[in-house]
Amino acid sequence: MIELSGIPVYKSIEIAPVFLYREADIVIERSKINEEEIQGELKRFEDIHSKALQELAQLKDQAVEKRQLEEVEIFDAHLMMADDPMMTGKIKNRIQQEFYSLEQSVEETKKEIMDLFLNMQNDYFRARSADVEDVANRFLRIALGIESNRIDIIQEDVILAARDLKPSEASQINQFIKGILLEEGSQTSHVAIMAKAKGIPTIVGITGLLGQLEEGEQVILDSIGNHIYLSPDETILSEYQTRQIQLIAKRKKMEAVRNEEAITKDGRVIKLYGNIGNAEEAELVTSSGGKGIGLFRTEFLYMNSRHFPTEEEQFNEYKKTAQQGLEDVIIRTLDIGGDKNLPYYEFQHEENPFLGFRALRFTLANKELFRVQLRAILRASAFGKVSIMFPMVSSLDEVLQAKELLEECKKELDEKQINYDKAIRTGIMIEIPSAAIIADILAQEVDFFSIGTNDLCQYTLAVDRMNKEVAYLYQPLHPAILRLIRQTADAAHAAGKEIGICGEMAGEATNVIALIGLGVDELSMSPAVIPEIKTLIRQINYEDTKEIAKKIVACRTAEEITLILKEEESKYDY
Ligand code: PEP
Ligand code: MG
Repeated sequence: MIELSGIPVYKSIEIAPVFLYREADIVIERSKINEEEIQGELKRFEDIHSKALQELAQLKDQAVEKRQLEEVEIFDAHLMMADDPMMTGKIKNRIQQEFYSLEQSVEETKKEIMDLFLNMQNDYFRARSADVEDVANRFLRIALGIESNRIDIIQEDVILAARDLKPSEASQINQFIKGILLEEGSQTSHVAIMAKAKGIPTIVGITGLLGQLEEGEQVILDSIGNHIYLSPDETILSEYQTRQIQLIAKRKKMEAVRNEEAITKDGRVIKLYGNIGNAEEAELVTSSGGKGIGLFRTEFLYMNSRHFPTEEEQFNEYKKTAQQGLEDVIIRTLDIGGDKNLPYYEFQHEENPFLGFRALRFTLANKELFRVQLRAILRASAFGKVSIMFPMVSSLDEVLQAKELLEECKKELDEKQINYDKAIRTGIMIEIPSAAIIADILAQEVDFFSIGTNDLCQYTLAVDRMNKEVAYLYQPLHPAILRLIRQTADAAHAAGKEIGICGEMAGEATNVIALIGLGVDELSMSPAVIPEIKTLIRQINYEDTKEIAKKIVACRTAEEITLILKEEESKYDY
């Protein structure tokens, strides 16, 4: 039995066999053939070609069944490409005329066609080179007998282990994935956020994970206690089986508060909202007992598309969310850049992408794209309560520019007599220290703030949120962070505006006691943790949390603060 640990994300216990996700290396050993081998090699290609078409058709059918339209589009394009005489003809020619082995012919053809696409001016066509690579690699994997390792084909309960998962890979996570173990990553990486949203117990940043795991072996994932047991012995296994049963019973008890209000014992109502990445996830929020959406991360619509989503595509998604009858749906405008890229858009190389051309900086520089999104959000506001939120604000000027553009879009809709909520609220994320410091100035221009503690910690503490080497310095309870939150909350309230928190910090029970005491009106988190936080809120006294808040902002270190809050937390049963 081997025991490991890492950085726990969504806390729970799971026991299942491990599925090792690893992009297999494609190694071509034989590049040339003899003349007499040509016919055999051509026949081999014919077989591989038809197997690839079969695989793709099957994947497409599965996507159709699950109504994953983007995936259907991808597999359609791949089917066409795999059967395109430009590709197949070139491969056969190389075998016949240059005596290349089938694998080498595919490899050379892949490079040639990819280069062709990469040299095109149009971003859309340049991005097609990735499809060429995918299709050619499918031929190669079949030829070399390498199993293609897709995540969404998993049909049995497993714990998924990988080095890291790209957002596009993470979006393939299905209901059979009971837990996730990653060698890389951090608590606020996007895969961690996605796993949390779906309530999948996850541990990231596990040093040496892949070197020690064996495909299919039994694993206990305990993200509550931060333990991973590979091939556990009988004693540990039966202990965990019991704990898992107890946990399920506790969760059931929490469900009882689903329809209750998130109200403290002395009567302060906290807006308990959920973070989502698409319209479907809004249902997770309501079924978990959340009353609204505090953060709709719209970048996922852009990342999961094959092109910039059109106004209609976006409108439909926002409208569907607005129609759920929630108290509020706060739609954040495109927060792209940093670690979030688009398959159809080429970002310039940046030395420091997190300090670079991202979020509001990107949309203000691409006004036409911005207008498309603003119009879509405005139009959706005619179908339910919707608010707009701008990410990554660092100065007043950016807010004024964004608001001006929004006004122009409203005028456009007025002229066309298209309906929208004339009183739509506009807010900003406070996630850059400069914005927190000038919160009093910004509060004059907006209706609400939402603090993005994931980035606020990254920028205030100068700690890359993705870097596990410095993860120990990533402390949301650092006195500097608490002071910035207090200052921002005070500035918002002085101007009669609301203050929320939508970073991961809001979903941790220990922090919630502090945040409520600091005056936060709204907490938005992964839907899966809403029941736990609601159960806690219903046991605490607002007046007591104010006293605790006073005490902790006077502390000198995160350790001192954590100690006070942990002691406080231990008084409650949730
Ligand atoms: C944040 O920075 O806290 C936040 C909520 O935004 P994201 O995690 O999407 O950067
Ligand atoms: Mg952010």
